[in-house]
Amino acid sequence: MAIENKVIAITGASSGIGEGTARLLAARDAKLMLGARRTDRLAALADELNAAGGTVAFRALDVTDRADVEAFIAATQAEFGRIDVLVSNAGLMPLSRFDSLKVEEWDRMIDVNIRGVLHGIAAALPRFKAQGSGHFVNISSIGGYRVWPTCGVYSATKYAVRAISDGPRMEHDDIRVTIVSPGVVESELASTITEAGAAAAMEDFRAIALTPDAIARAIAYAVEQPDDVDVNELIVRPVRTM
Ligand code: NDP
Repeated sequence: MAIENKVIAITGASSGIGEGTARLLAARDAKLMLGARRTDRLAALADELNAAGGTVAFRALDVTDRADVEAFIAATQAEFGRIDVLVSNAGLMPLSRFDSLKVEEWDRMIDVNIRGVLHGIAAALPRFKAQGSGHFVNISSIGGYRVWPTCGVYSATKYAVRAISDGPRMEHDDIRVTIVSPGVVESELASTITEAGAAAAMEDFRAIALTPDAIARAIAYAVEQPDDVDVNELIVRPVRTM
């Protein structure tokens, strides 16, 4: 049932849900490898968690680059001798209406939110198979279940995360896969929105937002289950609605 000593790699650990998950799992004595592009943030977080008794390493990571994700997972294995869990959390959400034709933003969401998860599977799956066990925790969203105005492409990427997650689950009896789908959570996610209307709408949601530790607890719940239990899917929303 323990999280203690599990080797867990987290993408997008420099802020928000990834950072909150690192904090909780470090306190539960997991061995962590943190990845993101802002290494100054990762260094400060790792220093803080290690000073409190944690076992936390970090590495610069761009999940859109398959070779970089491979190097990140290889570094995790080199540092700790194995990898038990990959939390594919890195994501972007530059919401906009389709008629704004922010096509470059569509591409960036596809590259980070979909390709990033696929690159993680490509890197970790062979190692999980060699070990005879492993656990993918993939962060989708309530946007992975329905589409609101300005959310079409973002939702498409999060629907894709759910479909992609079911693949390894159906194909392998020795691999666990968990989809965690948050509702609104306080983080830096809305900072990538360049369309004024979409940004203003997201501001309203801040009044009801959960803090990242709520999602971290859901991830910890899935990770701490015995090896023969696969928590398939967790949807975690604020009690309050808008
Ligand atoms: P944040 O913006 O706070 O965190 C996003 C993280 O992703 C950052 O650490 C960022 O690090 C990282 N990231 C972005 N691009 C890349 C990249 N190319 N390579 C590596 N890391 C990258 O937002 P959240 O914590 O909210 O988001 C985490 C996940 O949760 C996302 O997948 C998001 O879609 C999902 N989610 C969030 C919800 C919310 O309300 N907050 C609701 C539902 C789902 P850096 O910039 O340093 O690379």
